[in-house]
Amino acid sequence: MEKKLKLLTYGCQMNVADSERMAGLLRQIGYGLTDDADDADLILINTCCVRATAEDKVFGQIGRFKALKRLKPNLILGVTGCMAQKEGANLIKRAPHVDFVLGTGQSSEVARVVRSLELERRHIVDTSNVSGEIPSEVFPLRGGSVSTFVPIMYGCNNFCTYCIVPHVRGRERSRPPEEIFAEVRQAVAEGFKEITLLGQNVNSYAGGMTFAELLTACDKLGVERVRFMTSHPKDLSDALIAAIADGQNICEHIHLPVQHGSNEILRRMNRGYTVEKYLRLVEKIRAAIPHVSLTTDLIVGFPGETDDDFSATLNFLREVKFDAAFTFIYSKRSGTPAATFPNQIDDETKHRRLAELMNVQNEISLAKNSALVDTAVDVLVEGASKTDEKIFTGRTRSNKLVLFTHGSERAGDIVRVKITHAQTFLLKGDIIRT
Ligand code: SF4
Repeated sequence: MEKKLKLLTYGCQMNVADSERMAGLLRQIGYGLTDDADDADLILINTCCVRATAEDKVFGQIGRFKALKRLKPNLILGVTGCMAQKEGANLIKRAPHVDFVLGTGQSSEVARVVRSLELERRHIVDTSNVSGEIPSEVFPLRGGSVSTFVPIMYGCNNFCTYCIVPHVRGRERSRPPEEIFAEVRQAVAEGFKEITLLGQNVNSYAGGMTFAELLTACDKLGVERVRFMTSHPKDLSDALIAAIADGQNICEHIHLPVQHGSNEILRRMNRGYTVEKYLRLVEKIRAAIPHVSLTTDLIVGFPGETDDDFSATLNFLREVKFDAAFTFIYSKRSGTPAATFPNQIDDETKHRRLAELMNVQNEISLAKNSALVDTAVDVLVEGASKTDEKIFTGRTRSNKLVLFTHGSERAGDIVRVKITHAQTFLLKGDIIRT
């Protein structure tokens, strides 16, 4: 009889992709996915430690499974991912009902570890090889049915001073192109319509060709839509802009995290570009790809951020007019240089600045979306909305969420929708039937 795996994934798309690979490995030893933790023989929590709030959530979740472990002594509980890498044996000390902890480089060991725990119960902790990878011959057990992720590289070399990622995911390693192409072809064969090529900084891909060349090659593999993330502004090349402009199925959306609008803060973040350089890049992108959608990440409350620095960020937002921005409060991560910087910002100021930043960006997002009313867009259908089965959701090539009344469409179809209504975070429209 098939054993049941409950998989909980926190954090970024890279973690989602890692989870799918671990599920692929566990499938080989007889585990199928379940949504119901009560029904599971194995619970795997794949964690994130980019912000303190993400860690708190994981500890809360681990705590909730303590009672279930008492009821089901054979249940195996494992913790993997960035927080597992960072905390290691501390996790077991804090929560002894956890059976195993595997760091980011050890996820390829998950099936072997689970097998050995099936035979003999003990604690296993392995965070030894931060640069390990899951072998290419293991195909992921993917969730969803329309869009999926294909990692092209692991780790990061940039050492932004606030970021824990290079410490818990190691240095950059690029997968060979053939491996990536095989995985894209497999996703297409499984019926996926959209793939997102993933890396902490895809622009520094070094697997024997440039990222622009890799993207162009993936565009020719029969995928309806090709996306990528994340792009570091300091490494985005003219060749990549040209590849997007000339591509057939490469979506006109670039997520380009700027993080701050003050040169002094960017310098202390070790981002490797200035506001002026970023603005020139935006100008170049918009000249080459007129309908491009640009989104970004922003941090408020970085140590030493003055009122003037913060105002510079607001002005920067008003100047660039991003389609959307993901805004975060600076989270102090021990082990990173910024955690020891003087002039840490108090919580009240951080929250006030975040609210102000979001207000400014929300107005811009609404104006950007409103400009699309009465236009027609191609929407990749994702399925019924969570709140109303008669309403379907999908995304434009520019990655905007669209709600429309459902007819005979199915997930994975591409439909033409006339936009009738705009909100800050979504568009509404009617299908154009011919
Ligand atoms: S580029 Fe900077 S923020 Fe992004 S993962 Fe690397 S170190 Fe972290």
